Amino acid sequence: MGNPMFWKEITVNSSAPAPAKASDFIRDIINEDLQAERHQKVITRFPPEPNGFLHIGHAKSICLNFGLAYEYREKLPESGSRCHLRFDDTDPVKEDTLFEDGIQEDVRWLGFEWDGLYHASDYFEKMYEYAEYLISAGKAYVCSLSDAETKEYRGTVTSAGKNSPYRERTVEESLDLFRRMRAGEFKDGEHVLRAKIDMANANMKMRDPMLYRIRHTSHHMTGDKWCIYPMYDYAHPISDAIEGITHSICTLEFENNRELYDWVIDNLIDYAKFPSRPHQYEFARLNLNYTVMSKRRLLELVEGKHVSGWDDPRLPTIAGMRRRGYTPESIRAFCASVGVAKANSTVDMAQLEFCIRDDLNQKAPRVLAVLKPIKIVIENYPDDKVEELEASYWPHDVPKEGTRLVPFSKEIYIEQDDFMLEPPKDYFRLAPGKEVRLRYAYCITCKEVIQDAQGNVQEVRCTYDPETLGANPVGRKVKGTIHWVSARHAQDAEVRLYDRLLSLEAPPAGKDSEFLNAINPEALQTLTGCKLERSLAEAKPGERFQFERQGYFVADVKDSKPGMPVFNRIVTLKDSWARSQKK
Ligand code: ATP
Ligand code: MG
Repeated sequence: MGNPMFWKEITVNSSAPAPAKASDFIRDIINEDLQAERHQKVITRFPPEPNGFLHIGHAKSICLNFGLAYEYREKLPESGSRCHLRFDDTDPVKEDTLFEDGIQEDVRWLGFEWDGLYHASDYFEKMYEYAEYLISAGKAYVCSLSDAETKEYRGTVTSAGKNSPYRERTVEESLDLFRRMRAGEFKDGEHVLRAKIDMANANMKMRDPMLYRIRHTSHHMTGDKWCIYPMYDYAHPISDAIEGITHSICTLEFENNRELYDWVIDNLIDYAKFPSRPHQYEFARLNLNYTVMSKRRLLELVEGKHVSGWDDPRLPTIAGMRRRGYTPESIRAFCASVGVAKANSTVDMAQLEFCIRDDLNQKAPRVLAVLKPIKIVIENYPDDKVEELEASYWPHDVPKEGTRLVPFSKEIYIEQDDFMLEPPKDYFRLAPGKEVRLRYAYCITCKEVIQDAQGNVQEVRCTYDPETLGANPVGRKVKGTIHWVSARHAQDAEVRLYDRLLSLEAPPAGKDSEFLNAINPEALQTLTGCKLERSLAEAKPGERFQFERQGYFVADVKDSKPGMPVFNRIVTLKDSWARSQKK
């Protein structure tokens, strides 16, 4: 490892890796604003809707928004630059406090702390007052078209819409209806409040957009206080302006909403006396191949029990990645490597995995574990003898120290893959008559193979050479080195091998649930009866290791118990996926 350009060969369409804190168009805009004294500080917000768990795409937005606040606080210590966490809770139907708790845990785990926790619902009373103001100013009206009629009146991208017959309602009539909407006199859908802008506007978002709708649904924060709820396009600019946000950063699909964002602020700023005049800037959302990222699809996987929950290690959720054993540092490094751009692209999963390996290489002690064991009996090793051999936790290129003792005895396990009955010429592991080195121990030679009636190998009998402890004897070359575990001292364990969620780069277009057919059946393989070296018996949940020659593993935070370990594979040592796809 260590070559940062490694993923480039196999990248689909990813941006070049950028060092953390590199400049980008958002930082350029901010620097210009500060230089021109349009702003003296930088106030950003991360505004998730509490209707699901966060995923790696959100991590990109979190790293950007919180990252900016942290950076400018460092650059301008007196400025009061900060980042808010704001729950965008304007749709009571899908939102829940359970998700709010999960989101806060995830943001903290990623390494960020907010300067103020807010809810869009904190401002419902203000938003209502501003709506009455807009009606009074002739800039909003209550519309009573049905959904179908509204759609028909809207027109299309190529043709102008038509004015609603309710557009010319008097201010008094609209005010009266709007107050009665709030008082609960009408059913869902009977009336809406719309901005009076322009039904012929080339931007369809500007064709008298809806500002409020009736929803007789309890809200997880405001209970039954409200039965009318503001739309995102109305609530978001107001929340930003009230909080004094300077730079409101969102993803590209909101580009067309910017005009409406500005309309809301421009039409309220004199009346409301907002502390700032925020601007919206759009950046490319993160897409990753071989997985799904939209909350709707993640919800479908969770609710349909295709995965074990929001924290299933196959999911690209922060909770899933945490349980999988990814580190916050590696996710932040990944987000930095992707950079902040204006054009959408898909990043290769290999780039994320590179960042995980790069981080764990320095952090995860090396240990021995046999995942698919086959028994070796060393005929010339004394029955009851046990040698405690010193083994280093770290390879030479990691500047850390530490060793443990691994017991060696007459019966050991090696990996089934490290033995072949009829090996090809370039096979340097164990085979009849062949010699192989056991990591930290002796060289052994295969003398006999015990098979059952079906020809399955049950046991391999070997001899060891006492002169070979730790080093090859002069004049003899033993090429292969394999890992092993003493049978008598082994700790049994369950090991879960995780891989890409989908077997296709992108979920098939078309009907929504079709992506379920693309789930990779090998995304989770559960192995039982794995044999771990003795020192792993007491592994603490959440502890990470490199199982030599196998990959990086973590003791599962939910299911692993001292004495009964369960390990998750975080990532393989090399990009085995790219290789298997090339075959
Ligand atoms: P999804 O589209 O995945 O269901 P969302 O956009 O509805 O997610 P929100 O809770 O509204 O989810 O998102 C909170 C913030 O995170 C928004 O500012 C949004 O732009 C940003 N965000 C969401 N998905 C991504 C992504 N894939 N890449 C970058 N930022 C994202
Ligand atoms: Mg959203």
